[in-house]
Amino acid sequence: MAVDQTIDRCRELIAEPLGVIAERWKESHPGGRVAACFPVWSPAELIHAGGMLPLGLLGGGATVELTHADARFQSFVCSISKSTLELGFQGLLKGVDGLVFSNICDVARNLSSIYKRNFPHFHVDYLHLPQNSTSAGVADYTAEELRRVARGFESAFGVKITEDSIGKSVELYNAIRARLRALYAFRIAEPQKLSTVELYLILRALTQADPEESLIRLDELLAELPGREGRPKDRIRVVIEGAFCEQPPLGLLEVLEEAGCYVVEDDLLLGWRWFTSDVPVNADPFRALGQSYVDRAVPSSTRHEGREHRSKGLIEKVRRSRADAVIFTPPKFCEPALFDYVPMKQGLEREAIPHLLVEFEEKMWTFERTRNEVETFVESMLFD
Ligand code: SF4
Repeated sequence: MAVDQTIDRCRELIAEPLGVIAERWKESHPGGRVAACFPVWSPAELIHAGGMLPLGLLGGGATVELTHADARFQSFVCSISKSTLELGFQGLLKGVDGLVFSNICDVARNLSSIYKRNFPHFHVDYLHLPQNSTSAGVADYTAEELRRVARGFESAFGVKITEDSIGKSVELYNAIRARLRALYAFRIAEPQKLSTVELYLILRALTQADPEESLIRLDELLAELPGREGRPKDRIRVVIEGAFCEQPPLGLLEVLEEAGCYVVEDDLLLGWRWFTSDVPVNADPFRALGQSYVDRAVPSSTRHEGREHRSKGLIEKVRRSRADAVIFTPPKFCEPALFDYVPMKQGLEREAIPHLLVEFEEKMWTFERTRNEVETFVESMLFD
């Protein structure tokens, strides 16, 4: 399939309600179960190893009107938490059987409990990821937590999650993540041939699709992309940072590019490409996943990284991608992103790396002010 056609198909796929995708998959997998994962990282491998379909639970975007969820949350919480709950109230998750949340923030913790209380027919699990990455016991702890989650699926759905089946799923997801790393490397090298909106559509579609099918499409894309036309433009190269959970509107990503940026690194949908190298396939896949969660992790505001300065991972991203600047894109009311903004900004300033702050929320629909701010920022760098 040609690149443009694949990207159009990705755009169509992500516009579909999660429940429609789940029901369609179940028609071709009678008796199958579907489990959706809230950002940032959840072990898709465990779900797949039980013969289930893992999907991303990424909120309602601009399309879902809040009619019930607002009453369950304070006004000062992020949009993704409310719209994700609204998906349940509007029946848009019909066909999804399980939901996994993790301890990325207090809002996600509460959302998990609210789902349990309001929708008892879902199997809801809450993954307690380690908060102390430097402890000697962290791999064992995480492995045991993953075993607990697997046992939960087994008893809720009667599936079997064996070490053998996890090993096979780890191999599949290793292959997918390797392709994603290749796509990200391609964009660093030739951002004029693969825009960030396109890469985001590909990545997001992967969270809504059968992983075996996704792997085929990724291979096709990687084979076809180098031959694509694309003339380099006079733009600055930027890293975007802070949109690891709530999904930015496509219009915002479009505006960043139209206003003169090549986005060469980002933290979009980080959980689906969490590991920086392959998870080892060995005798204890729970431990391999647990160890990798810490040892092979991308930098993230939702993970404690020992005593290292919060800006270290971001500065490495800037250097590796040969970026000129950082655009911080925290969602409104997102505590992990906003807490990290200050130390990250200070770290960038010590290294003389320019930066700009652009807050968003998923229902944002007008981007003219953002366009003006970004254009001014870009011009100040291009014509300095
Ligand atoms: S957007 Fe931020 S505050 Fe909201 S659930 Fe995600 S991490 Fe938590």
